[in-house]
Amino acid sequence: MNAQIITIGDEILQGQTLDTNANYLAKMLTDLSFTVERVCSIGDTKHSIVNTLDLSVGKYNLILITGGLGPTSDDITKKVLADYFDGELVENEEVLADVKKFVEARGFKLNDLNRKQALVPTSCKVIRNPLGTAPAMLFEKNNSFLVSMPGVPFEMKQIFEEKVIPELKKIMDFPTSCIKIVHTYGIPESMLAERLEDFEKELPDNLKLAYLPSPEGIKIKLFSFGGHQKRLCDLIEEQVKKLQNILGNNIFGFGDDTLEKVLAKELIAGNKKVSTAESCTGGLVGHKLTSVPGSSAYFCGGVVSYSNQVKIQTLGVKESTIENFGAVSKETVIEMAQGALNLFNTDYSIAVSGVAGPEGGSVDKTVGTTWIAIGSKDEINAFVFRFGTRRDINIRRAAATAMHLLINIIRKEKS
Ligand code: AMP
Ligand code: MG
Repeated sequence: MNAQIITIGDEILQGQTLDTNANYLAKMLTDLSFTVERVCSIGDTKHSIVNTLDLSVGKYNLILITGGLGPTSDDITKKVLADYFDGELVENEEVLADVKKFVEARGFKLNDLNRKQALVPTSCKVIRNPLGTAPAMLFEKNNSFLVSMPGVPFEMKQIFEEKVIPELKKIMDFPTSCIKIVHTYGIPESMLAERLEDFEKELPDNLKLAYLPSPEGIKIKLFSFGGHQKRLCDLIEEQVKKLQNILGNNIFGFGDDTLEKVLAKELIAGNKKVSTAESCTGGLVGHKLTSVPGSSAYFCGGVVSYSNQVKIQTLGVKESTIENFGAVSKETVIEMAQGALNLFNTDYSIAVSGVAGPEGGSVDKTVGTTWIAIGSKDEINAFVFRFGTRRDINIRRAAATAMHLLINIIRKEKS
């Protein structure tokens, strides 16, 4: 089954709005086993919309449109679709009730522009919007189904996932498919591909693999399609077991897991607490840890010890240690980790000190050199990494690496 995505809005063509809707829908449709053959962005003009529809309707099984459904005069998608699919705009009672409720909940009175949102083409099935005033609309013509959705990303995502997909499943034969995301950390992409060479060769024909790299690790996406649904998911689980045998503790999670969520789970499971002493990451590790709901159960606090003075005065790093070995060194980072353990009385501590760049490197401590120490009640272990030259990426990698190290230390202690 093939699909096309059309995003409508002058602001996209003028570079003011990044087209995140197309990216999201392309990913969702691919996950649902559609082949996305075309993605295009067009302006809010009748001729662009009609020309694009002429090239699409009858050609793609599914056409998804976002944008141009606002009440202001620049948004014309609904009127153009009503004409294109031989309908008229009429007021829909249910949508009017939704719009009224939405407007009144915000303390406003319904005005004429709001009321316009309740006009829908007679030739479509209306899909009500739980979050906003513009409903989605489903049309059918020449063996193509077309769904027009609001442009506001969070409204579009919710309406697509909760309303549009179930609606489409009623009227289209959705291809069967199963997906599993395996999260890895600590192996660069080229080395990962090398280690998985044989694994990839032995994959069954109806199972595809993709690498999705980021500074927070490489996701391996396993995607099987066609045939019996349960068999597809069993097939994926068999392959995941093989991956676990090959990659061991470089796999840290699955699905929606992130390093911080997995670390949170491990700390909560062991009823342990952690603190941080951060230099080059400037508090990013603490931020990541506290971005997980319920983080007060395991995160006590941290010191952003960017200057030597704070390292010495707050964390108790010895002046002589910094003088003799430098702020980015095994010795300093170990004393930082000890300082956090003492200060916060936690089971674990994470300390990071590195040359984030782009300046500040030297021959023996090049930009990207980062020392990370993980402290526990019994011992403090320090590790050195040589990241790249980009400051933003180095900082993200340092925080991710620190969290991955602690996850592995906790898992090792458990086993
Ligand atoms: P509209 O439905 O055209 O009124 O869109 C409402 C708002 O949603 C626009 O002002 C944009 O900020 C946002 N928006 C529209 N289309 C997109 C898109 N393709 N990607 C991201 N944001 C969008
Ligand atoms: Mg618009």
